[in-house]
Amino acid sequence: MSKAIGILYVVSAPSGAGKTSLCKELVRIDPTLSHSISHTTRKPRAGEVHGEHYYFVTQDEFREMAAAGGFVEWAEVHGNSYGTSKAELQRLFGLGRDVIVDIDTQGAMQVKKYWPGAVLIFILPPSMEELERRLRGRETDDDETIRKRVGNAKGEIRYLKEYRYVVVNDDFSEALGELGAVVAAERAAVERLDKTWLMDNFGI
Ligand code: 5GP
Repeated sequence: MSKAIGILYVVSAPSGAGKTSLCKELVRIDPTLSHSISHTTRKPRAGEVHGEHYYFVTQDEFREMAAAGGFVEWAEVHGNSYGTSKAELQRLFGLGRDVIVDIDTQGAMQVKKYWPGAVLIFILPPSMEELERRLRGRETDDDETIRKRVGNAKGEIRYLKEYRYVVVNDDFSEALGELGAVVAAERAAVERLDKTWLMDNFGI
C-alpha cells in the first residue's frame, strides 16, 4: 500500500530505560525504518563511532549549525548539546524511509510543536530502582554522571502525558513487540493514506 509521506517517530526515555537498544533492534528488523543520527558535543564513549552512533562535533561547530537553522530541534542534555539536523531527516525521508529520532523530552516538545504528524512514544523502566541498577550495570559513566542522570529521570518522566504511546521496558522482547505494534498501527492510520492512491483505486 502506498502512503504519502514518511512517518516521524519520536522516542524518549530516561537514560537507562533501554531506549537505544530497543530502537537499534527495531531498525535492524524493519528495513523501511531508519534511525536518525544526531549531532552532539558529547565525547564518544568507548566503541562509539562518528557517523554511526552520533556525529561528534565541537561546541563551535554545533553553535554554527544551530545559528544557521540547521537543526529541527536541539537541546542541552546532561551538560552537552544534542540536535537533529534537517539534512539528516531529508536524507532518510528522501530514501523513502520512516524515521525514528531518539531524543530527550525538550527536543520532543519542539518536534511536537512544529511537526504535528510526529508520533511521540515514551519508554519507561519498570521502576526508578531498576533504572539506577541498569545505569550502574553499564559501567560507562562515573558516579557523579549516574547521580545526575537519575536526578534528571524524574523530571523527564513528568513529560509522559505529552506523549501518545508508552512502552514499559521490563522484558526486552515484549517491549520490542509493543514498540513494533505502535509503528505498525500508525502506518495503518486512515489519515495517513495517500489520497491519490485512494482516488485511483476506489474513486473516493
Ligand atoms: P547519550 O549521551 O546517553 O547518548 O544521550 C543522552 C540523551 O540525549 C538521551 O536522552 C538521548 O535521547 C538524548 N539525545 C540524543 N540525541 C538527541 C538529539 O538529537 N536531540 C535531543 N534533544 N536529544 C538527544
